[in-house]
Amino acid sequence: MPISENAKAVLERRYLARDEQGQPTETVDGLFRRVANAVAEGDRRFDSKADVVATAKEFYELMVSLDFLPNSPTLMNAGRPLGQLSACFVLPVADSMEDIFDAIKNAALIHKSGGGTGFSFSRLRPKGSTVNSTGGVASGPISFMKVFNAATEAVKQGGTRRGANMGILRVDHPDILEFITCKNDTREITNFNLSVGITEAFMEAVSQDKPYDLVDPATGRVVGQHSARAVFDAIVTSAWQTGEPGIIFLDRLNRDNVVPSQGEIESTNPCGEQPLLPYESCNLGSINLVNHLMKTPAGWVLDRAKLEKTIRTAVHFLDNVIEVNQYPLPEIDRMTRSTRKIGLGVMGFADMLLHMGVPYNSEEGVALAEEIMDTVNSIGHQASEELAEIRGPFPLFDQSIYRDGRPIRNATVTTIAPTGTLSIIAGVSSGVEPVFAYAYIRNVMDGTHLIETNQILKDRLVEAGIYSDELMHKIVEQGSLAHVDGIPEDIRRVFVCAHDVSPIWHVKMQAAFQRYTDNAVSKTVNFPNSATKEEVAEVYRLAFTLGCKGTTIYRDGSRNEQVLNIGKVN
Ligand code: UDP
Repeated sequence: MPISENAKAVLERRYLARDEQGQPTETVDGLFRRVANAVAEGDRRFDSKADVVATAKEFYELMVSLDFLPNSPTLMNAGRPLGQLSACFVLPVADSMEDIFDAIKNAALIHKSGGGTGFSFSRLRPKGSTVNSTGGVASGPISFMKVFNAATEAVKQGGTRRGANMGILRVDHPDILEFITCKNDTREITNFNLSVGITEAFMEAVSQDKPYDLVDPATGRVVGQHSARAVFDAIVTSAWQTGEPGIIFLDRLNRDNVVPSQGEIESTNPCGEQPLLPYESCNLGSINLVNHLMKTPAGWVLDRAKLEKTIRTAVHFLDNVIEVNQYPLPEIDRMTRSTRKIGLGVMGFADMLLHMGVPYNSEEGVALAEEIMDTVNSIGHQASEELAEIRGPFPLFDQSIYRDGRPIRNATVTTIAPTGTLSIIAGVSSGVEPVFAYAYIRNVMDGTHLIETNQILKDRLVEAGIYSDELMHKIVEQGSLAHVDGIPEDIRRVFVCAHDVSPIWHVKMQAAFQRYTDNAVSKTVNFPNSATKEEVAEVYRLAFTLGCKGTTIYRDGSRNEQVLNIGKVN
């Protein structure tokens, strides 16, 4: 099994089944068998004589080879009593005390099972409005977000990971300015990522420097106006200072809403890649691109035949997950099965480029992104259409935007996940991000440090006959090869890290993947510490023009606690 020691440690710490004394009762190989067997059982629902053993073998090989991995909850929970397999949920938050606290309870149940939750708080009446039943004064969305946050803090996810939340507020909500700055004190609302829900009308008002209306969601009345530019600047300033809030383009999410009859899409999951209707959930899975290269005399090229086969098996796998999944709430069960959304994506994209000798920040890199994601999306859709012939289309197909076309099993097929843990297990670069640093120090939770070096670079330097401890030391110190002496130009050009890639290229790459992705793309645009607010604003405008569904930015050093640090141990 090509699993690294590091990956084994992650799996052993958090993913293996355990007995009551906390001792692992399975090996890493056993984990993949457990998951494969449980997910293959889904076949039986459609054919009592299905060869479940053959399917289980196929799924096992898909995972044990690390060609594809399903999201963490599937690895952790499949074939075990909890049986909750999805990473992504969106819960509604309606404007009543009962509904708010129902949402908190439901989120706690989801967090306990390893899932993450997204909420739109846009329906909550603004701070200071009247509360009919008591004649009192409403405390507004931000004060309730603090309650959600405290509940999340208390429910550690089964001792494995803390619950993650996305909180969204529409830009035309009267409390928007308070929302934009509510995490400027970095001790506040720490279990949430925040995004402002941007409308096209708002972007239009920004470009024309006009005021726009603020609407009280409880009454539907216009209760004031803000200068669009002032609010845009406030978002930019806060993101420049702290990395938050991000932005999502609501109209764009709803243009791709496959079943508008079920209502509007108001929120995404915690990392922004999965827009969902209230009570929908989605399970993700990622193809390891490094494993889909083949060596030719001309160098490494994409193995298309293998990629297509992986895509088909992965779609079969993810559709089965919907069948065997045990949902935390009856509403979630019903909604998820009615649209059957899955999110197939990729990881190891940057590593793949390194092997192929293509710089991330180049037209060639962007073209490869398009070629790959076009394949994943079109073959993925084909596979889902073929499944529909046997299993039927998703139940709301007749109400969907696809209803005049070929029946399809899954309302959405593709999503680019961050693959925070999956990429460690597979030993590749995460999602579609550039390599963060080629040699870096990882802050581990207990305050100790760990030095990691990139194996592809190491091999390349050894091959070029220039590998030395001294050279690696310089790369650790600088976090980038850009200014290290003695590195040949052809290596320097290709081995670019996140900070060598200009923000504009980050956005171009995100947009390239988005063009061929049903859902959205998890991506952070990295800025150097010296970046200006205007540069951040430019990226927001570019993301909008290039068709991205949202943007998250991060300026180096702008938060106290960074998981990944460039440079020396301090
Ligand atoms: N997620 C979560 N808690 C975490 C990490 C992830 O709830 O600590 C959810 C969240 O919805 C996120 C999604 O899982 O958007 C996918 O994240 P990622 O790809 O990093 O997860 P992995 O499967 O690699 O653990």
